[in-house]
Order: sequence, then C-alpha cells, then structure tokens
Amino acid sequence: MQDAALLSVTDLSVQFKTPRGLVNAVNAVSFELQAGRTLCIVGESGSGKSVTAMSLMRLLPQATTRLTEGSVLLEGRDLTQLRERDLEAVRGRDIAIIFQDPMSALNPVLTIGRQVTEPLRLHLGMSRAAAYERAVELMGLVGMPSPEQTLARYPHQLSGGQRQRIAIAMALTCNPKVVIADEPTTALDVTTQAQILQLLRDLRTRLGMAVILITHDLGVVAEFADDVLVMYCGRVVERGPVAEIFNAPRHPYTQGLLASIPPFSDEGSERLSAIVGSVPSPFEMPPGCAFAPRCPLAGEDCTQVQPPLRACGPSHVAACLRIPQWEAAHD
Ligand code: ADP
Ligand code: MG
Repeated sequence: MQDAALLSVTDLSVQFKTPRGLVNAVNAVSFELQAGRTLCIVGESGSGKSVTAMSLMRLLPQATTRLTEGSVLLEGRDLTQLRERDLEAVRGRDIAIIFQDPMSALNPVLTIGRQVTEPLRLHLGMSRAAAYERAVELMGLVGMPSPEQTLARYPHQLSGGQRQRIAIAMALTCNPKVVIADEPTTALDVTTQAQILQLLRDLRTRLGMAVILITHDLGVVAEFADDVLVMYCGRVVERGPVAEIFNAPRHPYTQGLLASIPPFSDEGSERLSAIVGSVPSPFEMPPGCAFAPRCPLAGEDCTQVQPPLRACGPSHVAACLRIPQWEAAHD
C-alpha cells in the first residue's frame, strides 16, 4: 500500500446471538481505504455488507452483537476500543452513513430545517443563525432547488429522491472523512437513482471524502469504484482494483456475479442468473468454502477446508483453492 490508509479494517468479525443460536454474520473481513478513494462492497443479499458497514461505526444492537475480534483503525485510532462517549464524537464528524431508506435518517414530525440545524448547533456549537445559514448552504450542495422552502417542509412533503438528498446533506453536516452509503439508491426509480449517484460522485470530487459504497448493482460498481470488495456469506471472497475485478475476476463467485449483468439492450428484463442455487441460511453454513455447493469448479477438497485469501496480483486477493498461486511465479 502506498499511503498510510485513512481507514484500516483488520479481521473484523461480528456474531449475533439469536434464539436459534450464534450467527457468524461477518468473518475476518479486512480492507483499507485511502483518502479520496471509493471502495464498493458487493455481494448477494445476506452476505454481510450492511453488518460490516454498521459495525465500523458500532451501530449494531449491543445486547445481541459481539464484535469478536479485529480492529477498525481510523487515522490510527481503533474505533472498536473507544468508549461509547468518544465514539459519539466520531459518528457524523469523522464517519457518516447514508442508508437505503432515507426515512430512517429523518424524523417525520420535525421540519427539515430543524433536523439539519440541530446537529450543527449541538455538535458544532453554532448559533441559530449560523446553523440556518449552513443548512441553506447544505441544501444547495445536494442540489435542492429552493433551500429556504425545503427547510420549512416536513419529510412527507418531499419525494423519495429529495429525501435521499436531505439524508446525504445530513451525513455531510460535519464534513466527514469517510462516508458510507448502504444501497443508497435501491428504493428509488431508475432516473432518480442516476441523479443521486451523480450527486455522490460530484460531492466525492468536491469534498475529497473517501466513500464506501454498498451495492448489489455491478453497473454502479463499474462507474464508481476504485477498489472492490466481494463478499459471500460473511467473508471476503475477492478484493482488488476495479479494473482487475471486471477484466480478470478470479473467484468463481465474482465471475458468476459478472455473468449475471443483464445486457444493455435488455433493460428491465429478467436478470439472467448465472449462479445456481441460493445463499445458504446462516444456520446451515456448508463446511469448507461456503460457495462450494453452488460452484462449478468445486471438488471434494473445497468442502473440507476454508480457502484462505491469497494474492493473485499486486493488490488483488481471492479465496479459492482453484486459483493458482501468484506469489510462486513472482518470487
Ligand atoms: P447484506 O447487507 O449483505 O444483505 P447483512 O449484512 O444485512 O447482509 O446480513 C448478514 C447476515 O447477518 C444475514 O445472515 C442476516 O440475517 C444476519 N443479521 C443481520 N442483522 C442481524 C441481527 N440484528 N440479528 C441477527 N442476525 C442478523
Ligand atoms: Mg444490506
């Protein structure tokens, strides 16, 4: 890695206590994020993308969650070791998150103005007038046409796309260094999706923030990512620069995901499913490689050992026994 990472996640593991037993939702996830870069996390539903994102900010329910090991270093400070009080200061100020459903970030009974100015007054100690001025500025930043009017409105008086713009504005309130966006456009129509993604792209350039974008849409990944993390059943199966992931995917799961992208002419048609079967239940994880039951290349050995992440390029790793050793040829 060239520069010291802004965010460095090592062996992050998350377990949930459930009435049916322990669920290993995230296992030994590691990645690095440099300032100004974008990491996309992809994988089918249930692969642990949201749990990874939430655990970075320790937003998961404490009573049922165990962060079993690992570290989350933000500029060298381990967030997993911070007291809740210190973590409060990090949330929003250093790392902010945007969710799929903007209503989850908004209070239905308060005006937008109240919701946008409150954190400014509380966390940044701004006066009422200064906070209002900044709120107007934020509305402009996220492309709301008439800021003053918007601030006087309630969430239900806005469209889904406008609400997501407000949620983005709220995430940007304190100029965070890292913005996590968890499927930020999934609930929106195609046109609005494109607008919101364009907004995120502009903001990334203008504000120089690092972005973690979670999506199941590989078209979005191709346009957005510098680096890609592919997850399956709570594990990283492949990680690398976007060009390598698209041009030379190594893991059979990544290859399957790429083969499932519908051709351009076919928009709206049923997505071709190149991967047979479905994601196993967390209570019935197959032994060895969790992808083995669906993998066209799997053999006996794959059901016996958990494949380790191995290098398959200078900054490209994949976890599959079928991938030839890369280091061997380059030593
Ligand atoms: P993704 O975002 O990739 O669709 P998630 O990160 O939401 O997947 O979920 C990963 C796994 O963790 C799933 O098996 C899910 O059922 C489980 N899970 C998520 N949240 C909880 C929770 N609060 N309690 C128990 N299990 C959970
Ligand atoms: Mg999710």
